[in-house]
Amino acid sequence: MMWEAAKRVIEKIEQAGFEAVFVGGAVRDFIIGQPNHDVDIATSALPSEIKAIFSETIDVGIEHGTVLVLDEGEPIEVTTYRTDGLYTDHRRPDAVTFVRSLDEDLARRDFTMNAMAMTRSGAIIDLYNGQEDINKKVIRAVGHAEKRFQEDALRMIRAIRFSAQLGFTIEATTLSAIKSLAEQIQYVAKERIHAEFNKVWISRFPAQGIAMLEQTTLSHFLQGSFTAADWEKFQTTNPLVGWAYFYVLNEQESFFSNYKCSNKEKIFAKQVAEAHGKLQEGWQVLDYFHYDIDVLYTAYDIARWREQAIAFSRDEIETRKAELPIATTQQLAISGSDVIEWAQKKGGPWLKEALAAALLAVLTKQVENDKEQLKEWFHDIYKG
Ligand code: ATP
Ligand code: MG
Repeated sequence: MMWEAAKRVIEKIEQAGFEAVFVGGAVRDFIIGQPNHDVDIATSALPSEIKAIFSETIDVGIEHGTVLVLDEGEPIEVTTYRTDGLYTDHRRPDAVTFVRSLDEDLARRDFTMNAMAMTRSGAIIDLYNGQEDINKKVIRAVGHAEKRFQEDALRMIRAIRFSAQLGFTIEATTLSAIKSLAEQIQYVAKERIHAEFNKVWISRFPAQGIAMLEQTTLSHFLQGSFTAADWEKFQTTNPLVGWAYFYVLNEQESFFSNYKCSNKEKIFAKQVAEAHGKLQEGWQVLDYFHYDIDVLYTAYDIARWREQAIAFSRDEIETRKAELPIATTQQLAISGSDVIEWAQKKGGPWLKEALAAALLAVLTKQVENDKEQLKEWFHDIYKG
């Protein structure tokens, strides 16, 4: 249905006297025969001309020529044919120039498999033999590989990411260009590297991505250790899990700021590392209480990926969680003021200890989570 909406967009642009075609990842994935989440359209019409054709549009990146068209049902990105000007900072062109020819637009694209276009009726425009490269399962730079990576160093990490997603190899000339320019990866914003790594974590062949980072020597210019063998068994659908595993493999505090990780990623990774550490001696009831189930699952999976012996099954995590008499500290039937009243003492460090002891007594089922019973437990057992 996304293709249908996009076809209607192309038709309207053509009716207004311009060219429009499918480009980029959607064409690549169509040829490979796998689903793609977004369909991009390239056109000879200028952004202002696109805005005149459609009643509902949003400027999402008009300086790059991209307009989001809304009025065909689904949001569709329409980008004017363009060439990129000079690249002086190895990351973005100094200026983009809108052009009227598709050929020029395809020439600026990174890899042959990403430089194909498809007309509304399904004709493929393939000036760089992208289909042949897809059949050979190779990632090949469009044009002069070194020049292309000189222009934009992000393309080096994109090559790695695509090889992890598709299981393709990097063609020899393209590979040696990356090897010789690997240190230029330092010019790429860490946020962009973060975004590409997210895609590697959830890819089909993450170990291949890591192996390629080593092989290209890009790994030498990125923080952390990259050892493909560590990633052989790793598989996830959640990028958070990838960051947690990467952190467990290189526990270094500076890691999170270096890779511009979010607070959520940092907290999750640290908890997973902690829970993973405790797994060696076996988790206690307090661990099941303290850690979220996703943290426990991830720590467990990490132990398996690292081929560490675990004495229980993964399903047991859920059972142990479900068996807990309470799930949060707030659910404890007593509070600090109850204990102060029973002890007839002023608050102090003893209070925190007493509450922790009560929590443990409830969790280990020595006493029910009931105020009266906890009072008895406090007088008879805890206070002595
Ligand atoms: P995905 O399926 O992950 O979205 P994609 O190939 O669509 O992959 P995008 O980042 O969405 O990747 O980019 C769309 C298209 O724009 C690419 O297929 C490619 O033709 C071009 N492109 C994107 N980034 C670059 C770049 N850094 N250098 C050259 N061309 C690029
Ligand atoms: Mg895309």
